[in-house]
Amino acid sequence: MNDELRALPAMGRPADDVLGELEASKIHDRDWRSGRVFSLVYSAGDEVHELHGRALSLFSAENGLNIFAFPSIATLGGELLEAATDLLGGGRDSVTGFLTSGGTESLLQVMKVARDEARERGILRPSVVAATSAHAAFTKAAELFDIELIRVGVDEGFRLDLDELADAVSSTTIMLVGSAPSYPHGVIDPIEDLAALAAERGLLCHVDACMGGFLLPFLAELGHPVPRFDLGVRGVTSISADLHKYGYASKGVSVVLYADPVLARRQVFTTTDWLGGFYGSTVMAGSRPAGPVAAAWATMRFLGRDGYLRLAQIALDAAGELIDAVALIPGVHVLGEPAMTVVAIGADDPSSLDIFAVADELARTGGWYLDRQQGPDALHLTIHAGSAPAVGAFVIDLADAVRAVGSSVSPNRDAPYAADS
Ligand SMILES: *Cc1c(COP(=O)(O)O)cnc(C)c1O
Repeated sequence: MNDELRALPAMGRPADDVLGELEASKIHDRDWRSGRVFSLVYSAGDEVHELHGRALSLFSAENGLNIFAFPSIATLGGELLEAATDLLGGGRDSVTGFLTSGGTESLLQVMKVARDEARERGILRPSVVAATSAHAAFTKAAELFDIELIRVGVDEGFRLDLDELADAVSSTTIMLVGSAPSYPHGVIDPIEDLAALAAERGLLCHVDACMGGFLLPFLAELGHPVPRFDLGVRGVTSISADLHKYGYASKGVSVVLYADPVLARRQVFTTTDWLGGFYGSTVMAGSRPAGPVAAAWATMRFLGRDGYLRLAQIALDAAGELIDAVALIPGVHVLGEPAMTVVAIGADDPSSLDIFAVADELARTGGWYLDRQQGPDALHLTIHAGSAPAVGAFVIDLADAVRAVGSSVSPNRDAPYAADS
C-alpha cells in the first residue's frame, strides 16, 4: 500500500486520486453487503445506503452543537424524538428525550443522570444494579462517573435474575437496569417486575432497548408476542434505543427518553464559567456531526411505518429460519429463547466441540463474521434485513463447519499429526 496514505503529503492531491485511495484502503474490510457480517452493520438495502450518503453530505459541514445557528437540526432531531416517543413513550405526554451519538452515549448519559440524582438524595457513591447480560457500556459509565455497578446473574434462560437483583439492592442503590433485549442472547428481561420493584423502593429504572427499541414495536404490530417494556410500564423512568441499529439509520444516532421532564433536565449541561460566554450541551461531545441526524431523519421518512413493518417481518422470518435450522444440527443449540432477531449459538458439549473453532472455520470457508461471547462460549448473530437473505447459506455452512471441527478434535484429540487434517 501507498506510504503516502499514512502521512501528510508534501503537496496536495486531486480529489479523485484521494477518493480512489480511500476506496483502496477498504481492501481488508469485511464485505457487509454480502450479508455475511452479523451485527456492526444493520442494512435495509442499497437504496437506503445511498440515501444515507446523500443526506450525510448535505449536512457534512453543519455543527449539531448549535441549533440557534442551524435550526434545521433542531427540527429534524425533534421529529426523530417525536417518532421515538410515539413508539416507546407508552402514551405518556410528559416524555422528554435527547438524541445521542449511539447506545453507549445514551447509557453514559442515563448513568450520569442517575449519579446526579443520587447526589441530590445525599448518596455520595451510588450503586446501580444490572445483570451480567447488560451491555459493557454500563461498566464504562460506572468507571467514568464513579458509580458502583453491581452485576447480578441471569436465569437458565439468560434473563436477569430478579431474586438476585432484589438481594443486591441497598441503601446506596439509585437505579435498576433491564435490557429489551440483551445484546448477548437477545432475550428480554422481566421488565414489568423489575420496574415494579424499582417503584416500590423509590429507585430509577432504565430499560436498555438500544437493540430492540426500533424493532419490538413493529414486531408487536405484526402480531409477534412482545412483553411490555417501554415507558408505559409503571416504574420505568428512562429508555434508550439506537436508530443506527434497527432504525436502519447511518451510524451515530440513538435516543434516550425520560418519563419525567425533571429527571430529563439533569442531562442538560450549561455553564457560564469561562470567558466564552453561555455554553449548553445535552451530550458528551461539544461540536457534533449533523449528518447522522439528517440521515436518520431521511431514513425514517423514506421507509415509513410500512417500510419498518416490512423489514421487521423479513428479519423475524429469517431469525425463525435460523433458529429452526440450528435445532436440526447435532452438537449445537440456540441459547435461551430469543425474543426477536438476536441469536446466540453454543456447543451442546464444549469439551468436544470448540464453538470458536467453528467460527474460524466459517470465516475461512465462507467469509462469515460473527461476534464471540463468553459464559458460556457462544457465537452471536443479529439478523437484520440485510443479513436475512444470507441465512439459508449460513446454516448450510454452519452444519459443515460443526462437522469439520467436530471430526478434527475427536476421537484423535491427543494425536498431534491428526489435529490439522
Ligand atoms: C449496541 C448496544 C449498546 C451500545 O450501543 P453502541 O451504539 O454500540 O454504542 C448498548 N446496549 C445494547 C443492548 C446494545 O445492543
